[in-house]
Amino acid sequence: MQSARYDVIIVGGAAVGSSTAYHLAAMGFPADRVAVIERDPTYSEAATPRSLGGIRQQFTTRENMLMSRYGMEFVTSIGDHLAVDGDVPDVGWKEQGYLFLASDKGLESLQQNHATQLSIGAQVEILDPAALKAKFPWINPEGLAAGSFGFKGEGWVDPYALLQAFKRKARSLGVKYYEDEVVGVDKSGGRIAGVTLKSGAKLACGTLINTAGTRGHMLAQMAGVDVPVRPRKRIIYVFDCREPPPKAPLTIDTNGVFFRPEGPSFVCGVSPEEGNDPDCLDFEIDYSFWEELVWPTIANRVPAFEAVKLVRAWAGHYDYNILDQNVILGPHPDCPTMLLANGFSGHGLQQSPAAGRALAELVIHGGYRSLDLTRFGYERVLKNDPIVEANVW
Ligand SMILES: Cc1cc2nc3c(=O)[nH]c(=O)nc-3n(C[C@H](O)[C@H](O)[C@H](O)COP(=O)(O)OP(=O)(O)OC[C@H]3O[C@@H](n4cnc5c(N)ncnc54)[C@H](O)[C@@H]3O)c2cc1C
Repeated sequence: MQSARYDVIIVGGAAVGSSTAYHLAAMGFPADRVAVIERDPTYSEAATPRSLGGIRQQFTTRENMLMSRYGMEFVTSIGDHLAVDGDVPDVGWKEQGYLFLASDKGLESLQQNHATQLSIGAQVEILDPAALKAKFPWINPEGLAAGSFGFKGEGWVDPYALLQAFKRKARSLGVKYYEDEVVGVDKSGGRIAGVTLKSGAKLACGTLINTAGTRGHMLAQMAGVDVPVRPRKRIIYVFDCREPPPKAPLTIDTNGVFFRPEGPSFVCGVSPEEGNDPDCLDFEIDYSFWEELVWPTIANRVPAFEAVKLVRAWAGHYDYNILDQNVILGPHPDCPTMLLANGFSGHGLQQSPAAGRALAELVIHGGYRSLDLTRFGYERVLKNDPIVEANVW
């Protein structure tokens, strides 16, 4: 059986794993000492290609804002990072903003969030109902007290294109990708010794990086540790509209229902209530959300959406951190040579550049250099001390 030794093995070669591979190589770590193991190079079940690719500054946690800002800066200067032989990837950046709507009940927190966002330099504005109507004439402002609009640095990318661009660049720099599945993690004296692959091959390594997405907790279990991250299904509905509202931002209504344009169509959805959100890995589509909640909400908010045609739907999974819906980043205390990047929940695509950079810094320097993400470490799990991020759904 094939056997090799690497300094770093990255398990999961989608957005976060491939960003990590790229950042390691780009930051000078010997690329031929890095391997990425990916069980499914078509990424048919991974979160990344099923994502909406949104990037926003409108978080309430400083680290989340700054990670996403790096994501935005990265995609808007993509040629400086991911061009291969002068070929600049097109990741389809659309800077159309995010619009968070609030009723009287949500107004105070919208204003508080706004102040926090301004303090780190986010380009956001609060619009009262008259200003909302003036800027977005297609909106019905009934029941709204205000909206928070991110007019710059927010929008969405093509997530699959970003993943492929990371991967292509990482490979061009010399990182090796294995098409195989990690089925066992070998340890020696509390340290990672290597991995066993489904093919039967064994690879040795010094550091294991867990970027296995919705299967990250299974990989952690193979190493004898737990991460409180589980797969949770999210459904995206795609519809056409005869008179589409022009230049619509990603709009989140007061009940969490969201929509945005996708080419000539629109995508929309809502997260289920906590009690109706089981761990699961199936891809079944539940149309009752569309019938009972999503369509009535969007038709009320945008009169043009009263007459729409549902054209398709897809399901994907968040790697959902059941403690606080934020990433767990860095070493596991009981297995310090396994670095975690698990639990991004609904915002891992935009954080993939910053997470990859952070993991590369941990490997190369043993600590964060560009952005201190210590607060996202596993210690908060041990202390049961969640980071409360208000703008997740
Ligand atoms: C419907 C939906 C909408 C979303 N919208 C957004 C959004 O607008 N903005 C945003 O920022 N984020 C969004 N997200 C979240 C985002 O998609 C994820 O957080 C992000 O893609 C996670 O990337 P990842 O590389 O960590 O995981 P994944 O993309 O899940 O990749 C993990 C990879 O690991 C591989 N793997 C797993 N186990 C093994 C193993 N044992 N051996 C080998 N390979 C293995 C898998 O095959 C997979 O390719 C959305 C997610 C969903 C489902």
